[in-house]
Amino acid sequence: MLSFLDPAKPQPWASFIEQVDRVAPHLGKLGYWLDTLKYPKRILNVGIPVRRDDGSLTYFEGYRVHHNLSRGPGKGGVRFHPNVSMNEVMALSGWMTIKNAALNLPFGGAKGGVRVDPALLSVTELERLTRRYTSEIGILIGPDKDIPAPDVGTDEQIMSWMMDTYSVNKGATVTGVVTGKPISLGGSLGRREATGRGVFVAAREAGLLQGLAIKDARVAVQGFGNVGSVAAQCFATSGAIIVALQDASGSVSNSAGIDVAAAIAHVKDGGLLVDMPGVESISTEEFWLVPSDYLIPAAIEGQIDAVLAEKLDTKLIVEGANGPTLPEADDVLESRGITVVPDVIANAGGVTVSYFEWVQDFSSFFWTEQEIHDRLENIMAAAFHEVAYLAKERKVSLRTAAFIIACTRILAARDRHGLYP
Ligand code: NAD
Repeated sequence: MLSFLDPAKPQPWASFIEQVDRVAPHLGKLGYWLDTLKYPKRILNVGIPVRRDDGSLTYFEGYRVHHNLSRGPGKGGVRFHPNVSMNEVMALSGWMTIKNAALNLPFGGAKGGVRVDPALLSVTELERLTRRYTSEIGILIGPDKDIPAPDVGTDEQIMSWMMDTYSVNKGATVTGVVTGKPISLGGSLGRREATGRGVFVAAREAGLLQGLAIKDARVAVQGFGNVGSVAAQCFATSGAIIVALQDASGSVSNSAGIDVAAAIAHVKDGGLLVDMPGVESISTEEFWLVPSDYLIPAAIEGQIDAVLAEKLDTKLIVEGANGPTLPEADDVLESRGITVVPDVIANAGGVTVSYFEWVQDFSSFFWTEQEIHDRLENIMAAAFHEVAYLAKERKVSLRTAAFIIACTRILAARDRHGLYP
């Protein structure tokens, strides 16, 4: 246990460690290296002074964590959210290590964040915060060291400022230092929608195994940002009925189906989900109890605990968010016959197209949108079925199967590297 963590508080890093521990009996001789995954390789904690528009000074706290670099440079998003903590960023970096290995992408795991509510800053303040944060973590990032990307509260504009800051400090244009950039700066077609599309592909493949069609399926989605809105849109265009949505402003439902395109337009125009026409506003508790075939948590971690897991009325949970289900909830869901497609597979579409973007930037040769979609579809479907096959063979959950595949790859690389000195 790392010394600065509070063992009394159930926090995301503790969930990650428990998930790693569950794989130990399945690793054979590679289990010798398991502790490698319980200690992040390096952690950077930075103070970010920002001059406000009124001339005053505010300090923000930021982090960048390299969890594991055995399989390649670090890769993982940057989160701007008022509840960001070191503990959370550590867990998110650990899940990136597992996800990149589960998809067999040539990356290690990293993650970053700033404890800030970006909605409370002006655009110019947000730019100054982003540039200073980038400069402070500049000793860790780089196209062959660690490549950030968007996460909760960050987007293409933030990536543009990050790339520009890094490039100015280097004295050269370095497109490959971040992914999730605008197309005009070397971004990839299809990156923005990639995570949501990947969630849909994973859901569809899992549904196939359970004889659960997408057409007319009832779907509830928590989180209506980049991931949740695109996943909901993919379901809706394939004939599913979106029965409930939730974002930070509240929850809404309509048993006849919510018009997802209208909801996206409403939120894009600055409206709150709860104020959109044609839906009933419901409580958070009611949202979780809405009967569904597919439940897509796509907001933040730690949403489904053991108590809630007893009450959910769904058949398949597909984790768009990172870490939405606590380990004890996994056990309850398994005993109730509710399948969970874990985050490390389900939401890997984003990092997969980030990988495509990074490759395109290195070669300065860009692929068509159809090529991106086809390659994403193939990689996601193959990764899901590899995990599903192992889960059946070993009689373990999809999460444990994904961790077995990933940890075996990571620890085999560790074994080959050996220890220095
Ligand atoms: P986003 O900022 O675009 O959207 C987040 C959504 O969650 C918003 O609708 C927000 O209102 C909602 N939300 C926030 N707190 C909430 C709460 N307490 N209850 C209910 N809703 C809440 O972020 P995103 O990029 O869509 O990321 C969502 C999740 O997906 C995160 O867990 C992130 O780590 C994960 N993820 C994102 C990507 C990506 O490419 N963006 C890739 C993999 C995983």
